[in-house]
Amino acid sequence: MMSVSNVTVMAAVMCVCLGATSLAQRTRQDPSLQQWPIHDEERPMPTVVDPGPAGPPAPVPADAIVLFGGKDLSGWTTAKDTPAGWQVRDGYMEVVKDSGGIRTTKTFGDCQLHVEWASPAAAVGSGQDRGNSGVFLMDMYEIQVLDSYGSKTYADGMAAAIYGQFPPLVNASRKPGEWQTYDIVFHRPRFDANGGLVTPARVTVFHNGILVHDNDELTGPTAHKARPPYKAHADRLPISLQDHGHPVRYRNIWIRDLEK
Ligand code: MG
Repeated sequence: MMSVSNVTVMAAVMCVCLGATSLAQRTRQDPSLQQWPIHDEERPMPTVVDPGPAGPPAPVPADAIVLFGGKDLSGWTTAKDTPAGWQVRDGYMEVVKDSGGIRTTKTFGDCQLHVEWASPAAAVGSGQDRGNSGVFLMDMYEIQVLDSYGSKTYADGMAAAIYGQFPPLVNASRKPGEWQTYDIVFHRPRFDANGGLVTPARVTVFHNGILVHDNDELTGPTAHKARPPYKAHADRLPISLQDHGHPVRYRNIWIRDLEK
């Protein structure tokens, strides 16, 4: 039989555990309760989880729109509406430094997005200066692309982070040069007629098949050293990919439009 003091200790332990869990959840879900300053180097790095080996390109669902099928950049343009300057070869495209980010000619709101990417096999640099690119939903909400395999940076800027806001739940990175996947479910923010925020953007992300964001609510657009508030914007905007000066590769990008 359990003594009163044992029961008391267990109850206290349970309270502490439950309290910690609910605080962690509230912190992830309620931006106003975020306990970590942006890019805080003290923010704990997520646990490493080996996702297993890379596979061939994922099959494309019948109702998906292929944004990049490996042959050309016909569905992409620059922010200035000039032809996308990235290099296409052997079924992938590669960032060409200083050619600028690229974005889709089609626009999207709520969507399911599949992206495959690989950071340079010959890894150079460290932290943010190592295989950096990014996938931007609506051209303003970035899921970070970075070589985070055995490489440290601030947690909210590592691979699969919602940049500057939420680290991934775990670090599911593969080695540099190996193909990695993001499967993203995105719900755009909703604004009222006066431009006020009704519901924030929400995102679920699988990195190499592993859940790394579970319906996280974004605090607003992603930015470097800032968490700007929401500003009303169009219901549909392009998907964009970042030129951060590193020769990151992409292949097999497709999207399912959840508002059609
Ligand atoms: Mg980036």
